[in-house]
Amino acid sequence: MNYATNLDLSQMDKLSLFHPLTSVADNLRDGPAIYTEAAGTRVRNVGGQELIDMGAGLWCVNVGYGRPQLADAAASAMRELSFQHLFGGAASEATIRLADRLMTLFREKANAPHMARVFFGTSGSDANDTALKLVRYYNNQLGRPAKKKIISRLGSYHGVTYASGSLTGIASYHKAFDLPVDGILHTSCPHYYGFAQPGESEAAFSDRMVADLEALIAREGADTIAAFIAEPVMGTGGVFLPPADYFTKVQAVLARHDILFVVDEVITGFGRTGEWFATGLYGLKPDIVSLAKGLTSAYFPMSASIISDRIWSVLEETSPAVGAFMHGFTYSGHPVGSAVAMATLDLMEEEDLVGNAARLAPYLLEALRSRLADHPYVGDIRGVGLMAGVEFLAQRDPRRPFSDGRAPHRVVAKKAVEAGVLVRALPFSPVNSFSPPLCITRDEIDIAADRYAAAAKAAIPDLEQLSQA
Ligand code: PLP
Repeated sequence: MNYATNLDLSQMDKLSLFHPLTSVADNLRDGPAIYTEAAGTRVRNVGGQELIDMGAGLWCVNVGYGRPQLADAAASAMRELSFQHLFGGAASEATIRLADRLMTLFREKANAPHMARVFFGTSGSDANDTALKLVRYYNNQLGRPAKKKIISRLGSYHGVTYASGSLTGIASYHKAFDLPVDGILHTSCPHYYGFAQPGESEAAFSDRMVADLEALIAREGADTIAAFIAEPVMGTGGVFLPPADYFTKVQAVLARHDILFVVDEVITGFGRTGEWFATGLYGLKPDIVSLAKGLTSAYFPMSASIISDRIWSVLEETSPAVGAFMHGFTYSGHPVGSAVAMATLDLMEEEDLVGNAARLAPYLLEALRSRLADHPYVGDIRGVGLMAGVEFLAQRDPRRPFSDGRAPHRVVAKKAVEAGVLVRALPFSPVNSFSPPLCITRDEIDIAADRYAAAAKAAIPDLEQLSQA
């Protein structure tokens, strides 16, 4: 019996749907925000309101919504082959061609000729799980089973599975789940604006962050540390850009201690920073790169782990003795996902969406800075490419953060929805993030910035209350 027939969608949701990353109590009280259609940068909700999605979903709909080329690619692939796994050496043409194209693209655009192969999965979290397992596998094959710990960073976001959730450096993702698991360590968060000491230069801050990393390695013993994982720009943490020379110095430390470098490009990959890959932008030399989101513009769940010669050569040499590599998913290299990824890359190239991100990056920052310059609770506005963050402060001069548990950015994000713009309220710092589809125009940035600034202004009385110590 369909007992829910007489219920409206909101009631049905409350009775049936368990939402990820959502307060159960809030959802039971407020019900869901239901969206029905979308095109380009705009989404429409069930009430008929049109909003500019300055988050591109979850930093992922890079080519924009409603692209018929992607729908057609998926439909054809579903008709032709529907499914093909990769186990036991099986493959499909679409996936082989995507692997070839992705390796060429990454080697060229990320200045990373040392990358050797790509392994496919279905989410950013599983790409990081794959990375973690590969790191262990590599060291075990090399006969150094003690070299196993992974260093991540406070404030980082690497997903929510048992392993990737442990890599994530945000306490709210660990609470009540008994995470992180053993063997995962977190070093300092390199957010200069938030964590620099009074008078500390960016270079000195960077040195301090690297010294913290070295001290952690020394404390644990370098022979127990297998890898270091980092997002080039920390997204969910609060759009934290790496401080001056941070990665150059970090990479020198990793090389000195024979520690692998896992670069999590789940957000930054595929044009978000105005370069194809942040690996190229920041001169990184990774051993493993995690990609997802922009690979298919989120039209199909797909991730990729790109691995270096250094790891591949060990896999190749030890294979005859070890046997099959016993890791992989039913949907690894799904031919429908591969077709969607190919169509996504076609669109990215035809429309020069990476170039658009680079060209509009200063425009987005200026649009926000000029409109929010006098806002009494906006402390910092920063970004790279089409990835920006607005950080709130309880007091600008002298600087005082909002007390723990206050969430000024949630108040503003809520008012922004009423004003017709979607921005994200992040879980680690009081930051609203902006990561629009890379096809956004100047006019749309202006409209979105106007709406956001109006929302931020309307929130001032609430923020004043929250700012009281
Ligand atoms: N890594 C980073 C940097 C991310 O931002 C995310 C998701 O936002 C993930 C990993 C996890 O990806 P997924 O949600 O697809 O598992």
